[in-house]
Amino acid sequence: MASLCRQIIRANAFKGVLVNAARRGYADKLMPDPLEHATGLERKELLALQAGQDDPFNMKVLKKNAGTRENPTLVPSCFDARIVGCICDEHSTAITWLWLHKGHPRRCECGHWYKLTEKPVL
Ligand SMILES: [Zn+2]
Repeated sequence: MASLCRQIIRANAFKGVLVNAARRGYADKLMPDPLEHATGLERKELLALQAGQDDPFNMKVLKKNAGTRENPTLVPSCFDARIVGCICDEHSTAITWLWLHKGHPRRCECGHWYKLTEKPVL
């Protein structure tokens, strides 16, 4: 029901935009969809966002799990290695950087374990 209401509100708002544009005489000069102009990485990002993937380039901060050797924090990567920054302590003002290589889980200075997982290329 809420979805239907949102669709009706969006349709009415769009109709209002068209009516206002027609009154001003530039109805045929609306801005095109940004996806039509995007190329390269920008296009891939827009398509991924449209498909519901909100972090296509893995730029969000990962939440740590237990971080034990048996249950390491999984870090996705399209490559065989990746740099990981560990905020070892909640109040830490520095980040500990470490390289992670495919097939070799690694332990940070704080004792937290990380493991590289394969992520399919966009
Ligand atoms: Zn650490």
